[in-house]
Amino acid sequence: MIRNFLFTIILISLFLVIPFSVCAQKKSDQSVEIAITNVNIIPMTINNHVIYNATVLIKDNYIQSINNEIPDGVKIINAKGKWLIPGLIDMHVHLPSDVNTKPKFPTEAPDIVFEVQDIMTLFVTNGVTTIFNLNANLESFSQRKEIQKGCVLGPRIAVAALIDGGEGNGRRANTPEQGRQTVRIAKAEGFEFIKLYSKLNIETYKAIIDEANKQGLKTVGHIPNVFQNDLKGAFVPHFDMVAHAEEFSKSAKDFNYAEALSFAKIAKENGTWVTPTLTAMEWIADQTNSLERLESLTTLAYVHPLLQSKWLTSNSYNKNSTPETIAYFKKLVEFQKLLVKAFKESGVPVTAGTDAGVSGVVSGFSLHDELVLLVEAGMTPEEALVSATRLPAIWLGLDSKIGTVEVGKLADLILLDENPLDKIKNISKISGVIVNGQLIEKDKINEMLSELATKNNTLKPDFDWKKMMSN
Ligand SMILES: [Zn+2]
Repeated sequence: MIRNFLFTIILISLFLVIPFSVCAQKKSDQSVEIAITNVNIIPMTINNHVIYNATVLIKDNYIQSINNEIPDGVKIINAKGKWLIPGLIDMHVHLPSDVNTKPKFPTEAPDIVFEVQDIMTLFVTNGVTTIFNLNANLESFSQRKEIQKGCVLGPRIAVAALIDGGEGNGRRANTPEQGRQTVRIAKAEGFEFIKLYSKLNIETYKAIIDEANKQGLKTVGHIPNVFQNDLKGAFVPHFDMVAHAEEFSKSAKDFNYAEALSFAKIAKENGTWVTPTLTAMEWIADQTNSLERLESLTTLAYVHPLLQSKWLTSNSYNKNSTPETIAYFKKLVEFQKLLVKAFKESGVPVTAGTDAGVSGVVSGFSLHDELVLLVEAGMTPEEALVSATRLPAIWLGLDSKIGTVEVGKLADLILLDENPLDKIKNISKISGVIVNGQLIEKDKINEMLSELATKNNTLKPDFDWKKMMSN
């Protein structure tokens, strides 16, 4: 008990001291110029001609020049034989929010607080430099601010407000007027996108999309359950993105390629893009069947101990599993690969997203898994990379800033030991990442991850999901 108390005091004093010095330190570092020399640039532009043995000059967080002279006093990184690609974009993530495990009085903060740096370390060490938070809340804005201030090293974050119908939690709308008002409030609060959810009724769903368009907000989401027998009915103008391939599966009867093509045609005709989230479905199917793979997952060490405990001891996919659900999810895993193939053949733009936060789907690492699965489903490695760089940048309206390696773009970059166009798995052979004006090299990446794993391991005994949630 006394030890715990002392530990808390030490922690508190660390919090009091560190933020000021860390923020100030990082601000001054941002003006450092870096030249990456002898590097092979995979620009991910439309023609994507590789520029071999190039010199890239980075200044003030931007790509200043390619193959120009290097001014004096610049830090030089000799990247001979290495490959430079744009930072990756995960188009579907959920971030942990602080938790209340017991009733609290007004003015009291939550009793479980997730360290923002611990959440973001997983993205940046994997070269994920932009994420799309598809169920953002007010806390998301402060997380983003910490990164922008330089107090936390993290990705750029786009935020969507989720609106559901029925009696669910969060923002709910069950009439068109409620739907419109909810969109206007979300816009006023600062959300940049609207996420549509499964229990919306038809008229409210359409009103939300219409209002979002009027307010200049793009929409992404589930296909509400009411459209199960009328998939086409959900594809109204300005329904901009389907958040999972699984959403189409709800309407499937034959689960074959012809049906996948017919679904893809509907999306294509409406100009709707798709984020398949193959990784999440693989994990759901896996855990429905057994927890073995999850239990031996090495990257689990980087997940907050409370979530580790939840995933392993209160796993709803596993708990509610029946022979029917096991068979069903297995079928969905196969069908979603056919869907990706059909999207490709039909010209439906696909962006890579993981649904990070779902049990088994570990932030950052999971985007590499997603790219591998997209290639297994029929994409070329280049197409998979496009789905995690140029295309999501366009969808998010950020293509003048990120998504390609070009002069004038932000220097969100990954340095790889081997060419990912040859083999998509090379995406995990990271030699360095540049994010928010900071270069993190291999040694630093390993250090950040191992410190996080050690910290999580130390905290483990204090975070038993079942015990804490039954209080
Ligand atoms: Zn999600």
